[in-house]
Amino acid sequence: MGRKWTMAVLLAAGLVLSTGGVSAQGNGGAPNQNAASAFDNKIIKKISADNMYNHIAYLSEVPRQAGTEGEVRGVRYIESHFKQYGYETEVQPFPIYSVIRNNASGLLEIGGQNLRPYVMSGSYSGEATAEVINVGLAQKGTVPDAVKGKIALIERGDITFVEKIQNVFDKGAVGVIMYNNSGTSNAFGQAAYGQNIPAVSITRAQGLSLVEQLKNGPLTAHIKVTGSGLEEKTSYNVIAKMKPHKNKDTGQIVMIGAHHDSVANGPGANDDASGVSAVLELARVMANMPIDTELRFVTFGSEELGLLGSYHYAGTLSSEEADRMVAHFQMDMIGSKDAGGNNKANGLIMYTIDGKKNLVTDLASAAGARTALGEVVPYGQLGRSDHQPFHELGIPAALFIHSPLEKWYHTPADTIDKIDKNKLQETAEIVGASVYQIARPDTPSLIHSRVAPKPVDYDFENRPPGA
Ligand SMILES: [Zn+2]
Repeated sequence: MGRKWTMAVLLAAGLVLSTGGVSAQGNGGAPNQNAASAFDNKIIKKISADNMYNHIAYLSEVPRQAGTEGEVRGVRYIESHFKQYGYETEVQPFPIYSVIRNNASGLLEIGGQNLRPYVMSGSYSGEATAEVINVGLAQKGTVPDAVKGKIALIERGDITFVEKIQNVFDKGAVGVIMYNNSGTSNAFGQAAYGQNIPAVSITRAQGLSLVEQLKNGPLTAHIKVTGSGLEEKTSYNVIAKMKPHKNKDTGQIVMIGAHHDSVANGPGANDDASGVSAVLELARVMANMPIDTELRFVTFGSEELGLLGSYHYAGTLSSEEADRMVAHFQMDMIGSKDAGGNNKANGLIMYTIDGKKNLVTDLASAAGARTALGEVVPYGQLGRSDHQPFHELGIPAALFIHSPLEKWYHTPADTIDKIDKNKLQETAEIVGASVYQIARPDTPSLIHSRVAPKPVDYDFENRPPGA
């Protein structure tokens, strides 16, 4: 799971926690209300926590930070297993950019005085001497053509730093001075890859002073940035597909995902080799099952950098393909013996982006009661993992995780010895049974998720009428 860096997801403290509202029924009115069905058993009896543990042991031998050899080592391992199980497998590369900041220093000389600016994160290292032009907030459409060949003086606010820089860069500016919109700090701002002009920031008072001086006549500035930049690296998603037999194909797609990257110095045994291990084990178990629904097992790169892999993957989907996706199951941190607190479901919870239940949570909460866990799984509201881009495409999606998190989260101590095989088994059984409930040929196809009227009306044995 990633850091708290998206706006929509800062809800962990006040999360909505309630049970799934789905009562678990047995198979065809069998006496034991919580018994696994014969269909469940086709999946869950084959799931091996030892296999999952072994995957985690290998993957957590070295950190798998995005863009490093460690990530590539993990990607090769995952790819080789998908292939071995018989899947059509693709390794999908995408660019990521890391900030270079080696004794970064910035110079901004105007009228013989150095304003001691802050070098914006990722600013291009370069130098320019030119006239300063005030372009206000640098909104698109408001930047004058006269900015060409000049250094743009920009006020912070309303749109992103990157957009502001792009708007003046596109019109030929040779440097950027951005002043704060409040307070006394000059330390803010970031530039994007390809914006090859020096970009520095100054305080509000310094900026307003320059605005005043410009009213009295032209000003020439010398701007210089060294030791700063952005480096392009490559991260990867690993995608395994299994299509149903042509005569049985409902056109549906079900996604089962996890992220394979770790934080920089963390071996990431629980975060998220645990989720990857379940993706691999479910891919193995389901490889030769009769299905009427395409299964897509995906491990994403660069989750820890801001869900970059899952957003990249989601961005490559055609509208038609996204329409056919009926569910996304994301497993992130599903094996820590030190996470989960006192929740009856052994700490397991399903998070949705909007905090509402959906097809995924309905199926899985009921599956929880029928499988090893023996409890209905509660749900709540949280983003911070790769279920987010799928939710944004209108696809029912949920994150499976134990909450509260272990104290080893994002540390070098997130190691294999903290992994609990029972938790791995419980979560994999729940997701496996839920996926198979959609994908097995005897259950009716769902209406395509994005075009279906809400709520999606599905008629499975485990869902009581009107629930
Ligand atoms: Zn994480």
